[in-house]
Amino acid sequence: MNPDNLTKEYTNGEVTIVWQSGKCIHSANCVKNNPDVFHPKEKPWITAEASTTEKIIETVHKCPSGALTFYMNNTK
Ligand code: SF4
Repeated sequence: MNPDNLTKEYTNGEVTIVWQSGKCIHSANCVKNNPDVFHPKEKPWITAEASTTEKIIETVHKCPSGALTFYMNNTK
């Protein structure tokens, strides 16, 4: 697997954040909008359970590169 293009999923049980590393331009919009969930210096760098589903969806929509997407767990 190419480590420069990973797809990772993080869920809070209700919504799942999908992050594609190859698309991320490190603009940090996600970090500014929701620092409880997105903290690039820690591992895992996304902790979805630290936020509400509404706030997660709002933050994903602000990602400028398309690196972040989400799906609802109960509709997959
Ligand atoms: S907002 Fe999107 S492009 Fe910017 S750091 Fe977060 S995931 Fe990467």
